[in-house]
Amino acid sequence: MARPPLTAGKVAAHLVVLTVPLAGVGLAAGLLWNRAVSATDLVLLAAMYVLVAPGITVGFHRLLAHRAFGTYRAVEYGLAVLGSMAMQGSVIDWVADHRVHHGHADGPGDPHSPHGPHSALRSLWHAHAGWLFRHQGRADARRHAPELLEDPGMRLIDGAFVPLTLLSLAIPFGAGWALSGTLRGGLTGLVWGGLVRLFLFHHVIFSVNSLGHFAGRRRFRTADRSTNLAWLALPSLGESWHHNHHAFPRSAVHGLRWYELDVSGLLIRLLERVGLAWNVVRIAPERQARKLAA
Ligand SMILES: [Zn+2]
Ligand SMILES: [Zn+2]
Repeated sequence: MARPPLTAGKVAAHLVVLTVPLAGVGLAAGLLWNRAVSATDLVLLAAMYVLVAPGITVGFHRLLAHRAFGTYRAVEYGLAVLGSMAMQGSVIDWVADHRVHHGHADGPGDPHSPHGPHSALRSLWHAHAGWLFRHQGRADARRHAPELLEDPGMRLIDGAFVPLTLLSLAIPFGAGWALSGTLRGGLTGLVWGGLVRLFLFHHVIFSVNSLGHFAGRRRFRTADRSTNLAWLALPSLGESWHHNHHAFPRSAVHGLRWYELDVSGLLIRLLERVGLAWNVVRIAPERQARKLAA
């Protein structure tokens, strides 16, 4: 498998990705301490989270990596732009890495399994964020995401990853400034709607990769060690039903039981209802029953 070399620039980029949002959380804690957080800041945090997170969960993951439903090209591009604003890697890299994860889950070749040769804690760190430094963006896209590489629009969005990340910081800055009328309001908007939001959603998705193969419940016979994490269902918009997802990777809905909250699955149903999604992949109850663990 041809793998692009790991450059110092890429390592530096991952350091920025991990430490800048963390610094933002530190700043936010200081603002909280001084009771300098406004309702506008918290609204910006929630609004940016709700805007960007489905770009990853519905867009990058269920649509582009797994083709769990069909939609218009414009919707694909829109979701790819939103997902890029989550600062979790460019769209083609993300999809190629993720397909390799499914192809080798918890075996040799899995870019982020928490079951490695090292101690449990070290392996968990590797699956959570350490893998970014060694494996992120190194899957061969020609082999694992050829249809995205052939799409000029998708290549454009992939190449615009850095400007889109900056845009996802500029939006809460501009909105905070406009709503408060002060530069300070813009800066606190940037901290909460930009950095804190990036930090929270990073570690929610990273936790699906690490804890979602480590702790939690299993239901089906799968060759990997994936688990469902109910407590992470709301912030991950349903992605933490990760064991269900490994059992049926193409299923548009990951919360397979009525009580398994899956906001991304609900969003796809909504898109279908309004005519923006079709060929939505559903797993019949009989097929689920056949795969139940004894
Ligand atoms: Zn997994
Ligand atoms: Zn997946």
